[in-house]
Amino acid sequence: MGLRFQQLKKLWLLYLFLLFFAFFMFALSINLYVASIQTNDQDKVHPKPQPRRRSLWHPKNIVAHYIGKGDIFGNMTEDDYNVNLFNPIAGEGAEGRPVVVPARESFRMQRFFRLNSFNILASDRIPLNRTLKDYRIKECRDKKYINNELPTTSVIIVFHNEAWSVLLRTITSVINRSPRKLLKEIILVDDASERSYLKKQLEAYIKVLTVPTRLLRIQKRGGLVPARLLGAEHAKGDVLTFLDAHCECTRGWLEPLLQRVKESRNSVVAPVIDIISDDNFSYTKTFENHWGAFNWQLSFRWFGNKRSIAPANADPTQAIASPAMAGGLFAVDKRYFFDIGAYDKEMRIWGGENVEMSFRIWQCGGRIEICPCSHVGHVFRSTTPYTFPGGMSEVLGNNLARAAMTWMDDWQYFILLYTSGLSLETRERIDVTERLSLREKLKCKPFSWYLEHIWPEHFFPAPNRFFGKIIWLDGETECAQAYTTHMKNIPGRRLSREWPRIFEEIDNNAEQFMSLIDLDRDKCLRPLERDVPRTSVQSVTVGDCNVHSKSMDMYVITPKGQIMTNDNVCLTYSEPKLGVIQQLKSRNLTSNVQLTQCLDDPRQLWSYDMDTQHISHRESKLCLTLKAAKIPRTQKVEKIVVAINCDYKDITQKWGLIPLPWRV
Ligand code: UDP
Ligand code: MN
Repeated sequence: MGLRFQQLKKLWLLYLFLLFFAFFMFALSINLYVASIQTNDQDKVHPKPQPRRRSLWHPKNIVAHYIGKGDIFGNMTEDDYNVNLFNPIAGEGAEGRPVVVPARESFRMQRFFRLNSFNILASDRIPLNRTLKDYRIKECRDKKYINNELPTTSVIIVFHNEAWSVLLRTITSVINRSPRKLLKEIILVDDASERSYLKKQLEAYIKVLTVPTRLLRIQKRGGLVPARLLGAEHAKGDVLTFLDAHCECTRGWLEPLLQRVKESRNSVVAPVIDIISDDNFSYTKTFENHWGAFNWQLSFRWFGNKRSIAPANADPTQAIASPAMAGGLFAVDKRYFFDIGAYDKEMRIWGGENVEMSFRIWQCGGRIEICPCSHVGHVFRSTTPYTFPGGMSEVLGNNLARAAMTWMDDWQYFILLYTSGLSLETRERIDVTERLSLREKLKCKPFSWYLEHIWPEHFFPAPNRFFGKIIWLDGETECAQAYTTHMKNIPGRRLSREWPRIFEEIDNNAEQFMSLIDLDRDKCLRPLERDVPRTSVQSVTVGDCNVHSKSMDMYVITPKGQIMTNDNVCLTYSEPKLGVIQQLKSRNLTSNVQLTQCLDDPRQLWSYDMDTQHISHRESKLCLTLKAAKIPRTQKVEKIVVAINCDYKDITQKWGLIPLPWRV
């Protein structure tokens, strides 16, 4: 009996163990499944960023409230939406370290991510006053500021449905890391938020702060422009300092901004914007020596290459001139802000206001600068968590069109023609008369001046540049034959291989050249892979020529011979490690021609011969040629562009330049 009981007990234990094990495996598989869906999902929506604030043409998916919307995470309820689970743990995230959310929370973590487009569970574990490192370079740390002589500032933070812990950490970092004397007040502007903790709870919270903090409310959602304007109108400080509602200011952030605005009243000064991870809230310093501009769709972009117009060996603490600003974080003299036209108040919700302001400031006599001694962290998000009343592409398109129509002169047509959602007809429904009279009143300079002097390394079309497609003349299509005949008829084509002369010929015969192209049959120079980050190094091939406003099938050629495309990408020759011919023979090729970031570099200078229709690398004299080769990464045989010795009989080396219209 005793024995049997023992056996039974063992069996029971075994059963129990098996049951437990089965349950565990079930739970694990569900979790893995969810995680895999989420990862897939996130890989698509979150092409992990280089720090860039505005990246709209990487999709910013609009996620509504999720109330009542079912997905694998279940419906988000009213409670989910309004819940505030801030529960700080001492030391979490200290010194800007990442937060690890316990595995048992992983389902909830993923479920709640989309509410804010960042990991709120990570933020909710970090104390409001978490410590951060000193991210300044030594020269900046050594600088002394005399607070008595600096202007005061109102810090203006606008928000729409911001998460509690994130908003409060922004405010806390402002209070703790700004000299009390310089910080006149904090102005919070609530752009019609719905979350319940942003009502009474927030009002009660700000009452006890050591710095006067006001909360202004906008009843009907207007967007960041009307919200910042309201804040600015109420501000009492000498300088307006705007911050997004998900920032953390670091030690010494404020003084250099105020110092610069004091020195140069018409400078609009942004800090170095460091990265707070949307995933684990770690703080990563970005390097100081960067500047900003925008792409063919007016999306803001950071650039890090050396600038010819920047003085060499300059004082590393000095403000860096930047053609454009990211837009969320900057300081500006209050009077100057209003004198220079504040904001275009017809701009709604999000986007476009930063380029409008950048053009306006530069063209009307001011400066946009980045102050290398001021570091502020910002949570960069890959998607927008909030709604866009009126439709995202309509609202954004409207804002961008306003900026273009007010400030870009002839270049506005380029924006209208090649930005999806916009067209020449857009002009008819947009009225910028008021802004144009401001431009008149302030006697602002033309956009051509801005491009030439403020952003000489730009990759936009210009009157002295070629803009269009580069087609592959395989000798068989009608277009190829017509093109060759056409070229042969150009008098004096042998005389000059200088680009300006070529541009002139193409320009004079633009319509004929354009009529040659057959979009369905001809093949155009383009990157091997579409839809990969434009900043990555890419091989080049030929493919269909259909006009595609987001793709890199269109090129700008400069008088020096750079072949550029959108997002500061240039055709580049690189000396191959193994001879190209050898590689071709082995059919295993890493091409010696790539699309890479534009630099002022002889590897990016090309020539064109109207007689032979060769495009050759200026220094090596090698010709662009289309060859079949095995791509090492994919192991597939594909046609790829390489640079090899020129041979005028080789039809795989012939290229045509077909201009496209960019102004009317
Ligand atoms: N914002 C707002 N109303 C809106 C959209 C945005 O007040 O309709 C606020 C938002 O809360 C944030 C700032 O404007 O503090 C900038 O927006 P966001 O951070 O989404 O822009 P990003 O930094 O991603 O460019
Ligand atoms: Mn932001």
